Amino acid sequence: MTLLRLENVRKRYDQTPALHDIGLHLEAGEFLVLIGGSGSGKTTLLRAAAGLERVTAGRITLRQDIVDDPQATLFVPPAQRRLGMVFQDYALWPHLSCLDNVATALPARTPNRLNRAQKMLERMQIGALAQRRPARLSGGQQQRVGIARALVARPDLLLLDEPFSSLDPHIRDQLRNDIRALARETGTASLLVSHDPADVWRLADRVAVLEAGRIIQLATPETLFTRPATPHVARFSGAQGGFPAVPAQVGSTTGVRLGDVFLPAPLDHACAPECIAYFRPQDVLSQPACSTGPGLPAILDHCVFEAGAWLAYWRVAGLLSLICSRETQKPGAEARLTISGDKIFLYPRDKE
Ligand code: ADP
Ligand code: MG
Repeated sequence: MTLLRLENVRKRYDQTPALHDIGLHLEAGEFLVLIGGSGSGKTTLLRAAAGLERVTAGRITLRQDIVDDPQATLFVPPAQRRLGMVFQDYALWPHLSCLDNVATALPARTPNRLNRAQKMLERMQIGALAQRRPARLSGGQQQRVGIARALVARPDLLLLDEPFSSLDPHIRDQLRNDIRALARETGTASLLVSHDPADVWRLADRVAVLEAGRIIQLATPETLFTRPATPHVARFSGAQGGFPAVPAQVGSTTGVRLGDVFLPAPLDHACAPECIAYFRPQDVLSQPACSTGPGLPAILDHCVFEAGAWLAYWRVAGLLSLICSRETQKPGAEARLTISGDKIFLYPRDKE
C-alpha cells in the first residue's frame, strides 16, 4: 500500500524556488532515505509532507486522502496528519520532564497515557531518565526522547530530519540500529532526510537523491552504488574523479582516452564528445610498469593509511589530479594503472 505520494510538487519561498516537480512515493513499512547537500530542499520536502509548509503546486496524498493540493484548495493541517516527526535539534519542551514530553504526543484522555509514554521511553532504553528535564540529558539521550515522542502514538509514518547530525559517531550508530529495528518491528514507514551517506548504506530500502530541489536518482542503495546517475552521486558513493575523458574507438573496441592513454570501456550512456570519468580506488589495479596492454603509466606520489587500509596516490601524465588505488608501495614506484571498463562512470562534461 502506498502511504505517502508526492506528485509534481513545487515549492517557492517568495522568489526562491526550493522544490521542482518532485515525484515520490513511500510504501507502507518502507525506509526511504532522502539525501542531498545543504540547501537542496530536503527539509522543505519533509515539512511539506508533515503539513508544516504548504506546497506551491502539485499534490500530496497521505494514505488515501489528498492532504495538500493548492489547485483544489485542499489542505490538511499537521495535527490531523497522524504522523511522527523527529527533528535535528530534538525540539523538546525544556520545562517538561522526559515522560511528559513523550506523553504530550498522546491526546489528553488517552487511557494509560503516562504508562504508554513510560513504556516507549523504556523501549528507547531511557526509562530511568523519565523524570529528568531535557537539559540534564546528553544529545543522544535527548534524541531518544524525541524518537519516543514521535512513535508513542504508533503512527504508520515517521518523518526524520537529520536526526543524527548533532550526535557523536558511535551514538549515531547505536541510534541508527535502534530506529531501524523499531521501524521493522512496528511496520512504520520512515522518510529520513540526511546529508550523511552512512545513513543510505545503513538504513535505506530506497534512496532519493536531491540536488537543487530536484530528485536526480531514486533507486536502491545497490543501484546507486553500481550506476550513480551524476558526478555528485558517484562522489558520495566513494568514487574519485572529475578526470577529463574523451570517448573514443580503436578498431572495434570502444573506450575512453584518459590522460594520453586509451582504456577500453563500454560506451552506453556517454555520447557527449567530452566527458568526465569517475571510478573507485578498489577498482584501480596497478600492473608492473614493464607490462604491456592498456594502462596509464603512473608514478607513485605518496601513500596514506586510512581507516584500516592503505591508499596509494599516483601521478599520471596528462591528469592534474592524482589517482588513488588501494595498496602500498614506495613513493617513486612506477606502474601501469588499469581500471575495468564497466567500473568507469562517464558523465557529459557540462554535468559537473
Ligand atoms: P536543506 O534542508 O536541504 O538544507 P531547505 O529545504 O532548508 O534545504 O532549503 C531549500 C532552499 O529553500 C534553500 O535555498 C533555502 O535557503 C530556502 N528556504 C528554506 N526555508 C526558507 C524560508 N522559510 N524562507 C525562504 N527561503 C527558504
Ligand atoms: Mg535541512
